[in-house]
Amino acid sequence: MFNVKFDKIALIGIGLIGSSLARVIRKNNLAYHISIATHSLRTLNDARELNLGDTYTTINSEATEDADLVVISVPIGVSGAVARDIASHLKHGAIVTDVGSAKVSVISQMQSELPKSVHFIPGHPIAGTEHSGPRAGFSDLFFNRWCILTPLPNTDQTMLERLSAFWIACGAKIDCMDPEHHDLILAIVSHVPHMIAYNIIRTASDLEKVIHSDVMSYSASGFQDFTRLAASDPTIWRDIFLHNRDAILEMLGRFSEDLAVLQRAIRWRDEEMLFDFLTRTRTIRRNRFEAGNASVSVQDC
Ligand code: NAP
Repeated sequence: MFNVKFDKIALIGIGLIGSSLARVIRKNNLAYHISIATHSLRTLNDARELNLGDTYTTINSEATEDADLVVISVPIGVSGAVARDIASHLKHGAIVTDVGSAKVSVISQMQSELPKSVHFIPGHPIAGTEHSGPRAGFSDLFFNRWCILTPLPNTDQTMLERLSAFWIACGAKIDCMDPEHHDLILAIVSHVPHMIAYNIIRTASDLEKVIHSDVMSYSASGFQDFTRLAASDPTIWRDIFLHNRDAILEMLGRFSEDLAVLQRAIRWRDEEMLFDFLTRTRTIRRNRFEAGNASVSVQDC
């Protein structure tokens, strides 16, 4: 069994995910010292006001000095730049991990920047909301949610176990998989649904202009629930769409083909096909999700 308490944890990025980590680390006593780094002074002041850490800086490398665990929770498009910032200021033997929603790109951005003397183990907690920033976080965010780790071929098993023990102490359940596999799964369960939600808002809003009517004020709760995803942060989601490009395009292709079949059935008034389709998908939905065994939900990224 590991002592999951670290001497010093550095949190780079203190938005929804970083601040939720800060809160659960404090609550469960997982570090003697939490150092926080973020991009803007404004967010840093919010984090200080919320008492999320012990030391605060806008210089990433300053936060990582002497840290045993470094968790990078920034938009994935800047992962490489952050790795470059901290590379020469990392403690020998430190674990460096991230929480980015697409793994292949993050690994290719970060791996080459980080020194061989640290243990880089990419990760992704499948937990989130449509809110962002340090005020949006909460300590139970990871409770009973999956955290997927995508270890590299040379990952040290003991360090992998130590990082797994940390996430378990944060309330999460651990799974390990290849980065490519992760990206494909997340494309269909999270990234494409977000894209559809953003797009349906655009279609409804464009329609308002054409028919001169306030379409969205008549929206039913289903529309409102579904489009909640479109309230998510544009920087985070722009980066996910661009950095999981291949997997998203692959899943979007499959989705479009299936949609075309549905469209055809409606056009040709194919009652039997529609009834079979709706029955089959309802059964899948009920068996797989309502039975309480869903591991990944649409609202997560
Ligand atoms: P967020 O609330 O928008 O927070 C992002 C944080 O990153 C902010 O503190 C921001 O700083 C900071 N940042 C941006 N550029 C930086 C840089 N160059 N150096 C240091 N800090 C920088 O985002 P989030 O929702 O926590 O997402 C963070 C990561 O978690 C993303 O990679 C995302 O893919 C992943 N993720 C998100 C969710 C979700 O549901 N939101 C779920 C799982 C994983 P300033 O505010 O100071 O600019």
